[in-house]
Amino acid sequence: MFIDQAEIQLKAGDGGNGIVAFRRETYVPDGGPSGGDGGKGGDIIFEADANLRTLMDFRYKRKYEAERGEDGKNKNCFGRQGKDLIVKVPCGTLIKNKNTEKIMADLTRDGQRFLVAEGGHGGKGNARFKTSVRQAPNFATAGEKGYSVEVVLELKLIADVGLVGFPNVGKSTLLSVITDAQPKIANYHFTTLTPNLGVVQNQWGDSFVVADIPGVIEGAHQGVGLGLDFLRHIERTKVLVHVLDIAGIEGRNPLEDFQQLNNELKQYEIDLSDRPQIIAANKSDLISDPSIFDEFIDTMKSDGYPVVLISAATGNGIDELLKEVSHLLKKTEEKEAEQTKMEAATAEDESSRKVIRFSDQEDTKRFNAFKKNNVYYVEGEMVRKLIYSLNMDSMDALFHFYRVLQKNGVIKELKKLGIQEGDTVNIMDVEFDFVENPE
Ligand code: GDP
Ligand code: MG
Repeated sequence: MFIDQAEIQLKAGDGGNGIVAFRRETYVPDGGPSGGDGGKGGDIIFEADANLRTLMDFRYKRKYEAERGEDGKNKNCFGRQGKDLIVKVPCGTLIKNKNTEKIMADLTRDGQRFLVAEGGHGGKGNARFKTSVRQAPNFATAGEKGYSVEVVLELKLIADVGLVGFPNVGKSTLLSVITDAQPKIANYHFTTLTPNLGVVQNQWGDSFVVADIPGVIEGAHQGVGLGLDFLRHIERTKVLVHVLDIAGIEGRNPLEDFQQLNNELKQYEIDLSDRPQIIAANKSDLISDPSIFDEFIDTMKSDGYPVVLISAATGNGIDELLKEVSHLLKKTEEKEAEQTKMEAATAEDESSRKVIRFSDQEDTKRFNAFKKNNVYYVEGEMVRKLIYSLNMDSMDALFHFYRVLQKNGVIKELKKLGIQEGDTVNIMDVEFDFVENPE
C-alpha cells in the first residue's frame, strides 16, 4: 500500500476587535457609547473533491490562513466577517491532528465538508457594555484568536494508470522518468515483483498515480509467474499505458507483443482488454528512421488506440504521452461519474454537502482552579479566551473581567479554596490581587 502524506498548518481568521466610540451629537454634551463589535474571523473548511487524486498540491503550499474579521466601527456598526477558506482534498483523505494523532475526519464522498478550524468571534464594542449604572463604558474587547492546528493529511493511493508490457520494454524506466518513484531498472526479466507506484504531475497541473505492473507474460491469466497477482492490480486502474519495445531488440515484434499481451488481459476473469489503452512505442531512440513505423502506427490508430512514439531514455515524446494519458483519464472518469450519477440519482445523499464540525476542540466552559504556594491559579480554555480578549488598561475592563469570572463560577470556586482579600490570583501567567466586590 502506498500512502501519500502531507503536513500542513492551519490558522482560522482572528475575530476583529470591538472598539470604543461615543456618539458626538451637536447639543448633546455626552453621547452614549457607540463602538461596534468586530466581525468573526473566517473558518477553514476541508472539502472532498472527486477531481483531485493526490496530495501533490500540499507539497508546495503548507500554510493556510483564513481572513481576519474586520474591527468594529463607530455608530454601532459591526465589522465585516472574514472570508472562509475552503481547502479541497481528494476523496478518501484522512485528516489527523498532528499533535494528538487523533483522526479528525475521513472525507470520502465528493462535496463532503469538514470544518477543521473555526474563526475567532469578534470582540464586543463598548456599546455592549452600557448598563444602568455605567453609562459610558470606555472599554471594548479584542477579537478572539482563530483556531490554529497542524494536521496530517493521508491518502491511500490507488493507481489510476497502469503500465503494462512484456519484460524489458522499459516500464520501470518510464515510471522513473515520469514520477519520483525509483524502481529497479535492469536488463533482465522479473526485476520487479510488486508494482511500484509514483505520482505524476504534468505541466498542466493535473496529477495522477501510475503503477508499473510487471509480470504480465504469456500464461499470466493461468497463474504463470505471479501473473494473477499483477492482473488483479490492473483491475483497479482506469487507464492502461501499453509499453512496447518498438526497436524490437531481443527479437521482439511489437505488433505480436501487443496482441499477445492483450490476449492475456482478455482471458483474465474479467476482460481487462477493453480498459482504455494508450500505446507507448518506446525505445524510439534506437531507430534511425522512425518512418518505418508509419504502417504500425496507422494500424493501431485505425483500431482506435492512441499511439505515442517515445524514448524513456532520452525523454522524447514523454510530454505528449502524459498529455494523452491525462486526456483519456479525464474522459474515462467523466463517463464513470455519469454512471454513478445515474445510479445515485435514486439515492440522493443530502448529507454530503453538510459541514461536519470538529468536535475535538476543547470545551470552552471548563476551568480549573487550585492553590499552590499561597497563589491561586485558574486555568482552562474559558479563562484563556477571556484574558486574551481583554485590554486590561482601564478599571472598567477589570470590573468586566471580574463579573465574567463571577458569572462562570470562578470566584465561588476560589472562595471555596479559601481566598482572602489581597491574595494573589494567577490566570494564565497574569497576576492580580484579589479584591472582593471591586465596583
Ligand atoms: P521493464 O522490464 O519493462 O521494467 O524494463 P526496464 O525499464 O527495466 O528497461 C529494460 C532495459 O531497457 C534497461 O536496460 C533500460 O535501460 C532499457 N531502456 C528502457 N527504455 C529505453 C529507451 O527508451 N531507449 C533505450 N535505448 N533503452 C531503454
Ligand atoms: Mg521493470
